[in-house]
Amino acid sequence: MRNFSIAIHGGAGTLVKGLMTPELEDQYKQALKEALDAGYYLMENGGTALDAVEVAVKTLEDTPLFNAGKGAVFTAEGTHEMDASIMDGKTLEAGAVSLVTGIKNPVSLARDVMENSYHVFLAGEGAMQFAKGRGYALEAPDYFYDEVRYQQWQGIKDSDNFQLDHSVKKDGKFGTVGAVACDQEGNIAAATSTGGMTNKKWGRVGDSPMVGAGVYANNKTCAVSCTGSGEFFIRGVVAYDVACLMEHKNMSLEDAANEVIHKRVLEINGDGGLIAIDTNGNISMPFNTEGMYRASKSSVGTEEVSIYKN
Ligand code: ASP
Repeated sequence: MRNFSIAIHGGAGTLVKGLMTPELEDQYKQALKEALDAGYYLMENGGTALDAVEVAVKTLEDTPLFNAGKGAVFTAEGTHEMDASIMDGKTLEAGAVSLVTGIKNPVSLARDVMENSYHVFLAGEGAMQFAKGRGYALEAPDYFYDEVRYQQWQGIKDSDNFQLDHSVKKDGKFGTVGAVACDQEGNIAAATSTGGMTNKKWGRVGDSPMVGAGVYANNKTCAVSCTGSGEFFIRGVVAYDVACLMEHKNMSLEDAANEVIHKRVLEINGDGGLIAIDTNGNISMPFNTEGMYRASKSSVGTEEVSIYKN
């Protein structure tokens, strides 16, 4: 048996410590641990990295603490439009959806696109038609409602502003979610899911569903899930950049991930972080913000659940 491991994130952000109560911090850590364990135990019982990242992200989508699935942020129209993606490092197959509404677990719809359509990426109406055809039941808008996110939106809804869920004026509620995993066979996978940005308009799509930007997996190098200001992560092709540095510059996972987040993303004024894993189960979780909700666990016996810088 080879080492296996998993890492997850619940969004990077400028987390103001004073706004975080010990009780809330416990809730976040508990939610992260639950998702981490769901993916880990699946692989402990021989499950694949692909299944592990899906189950971990689904668990995070099901909690209103994070900006994905239940608890997704409000758009300018007061709706919830969600983006998600998944990629298998063994086959290089990928699936993604964008601008979907009423879907409880967008990451599973992304996987469905990967496995049951000829396409990689379905958006808006088309993605919803596909979901309908695959028998997805739609949740009522109430399911996604979260009072704090509603108030976030009320603060800016009549303006042209939009707000990253993890920007400074906030309430302790952050982010996009994601997972990367390496299973007992040495296969790796990645998944990312988000509600995007509060008050986003005109069909805005962030990096999270874009292969190469917010998600990437290739057994040759690494699996990556990103979080941060999506516009910069798209332009920096951030997830793929980590893989490129490993492949073409022979960098280790840790060096490549740090180079991208602490140098290349900062050079284009981007803020955020990522989680990355290689086929030996090594994990890297760099971020250039005050904190990032994150957790990791490996069969060598290491485990971490953290929010702020260590
Ligand atoms: N990257 C996401 C987006 O721009 C936001 C986040 O990471 O919270 O949609």
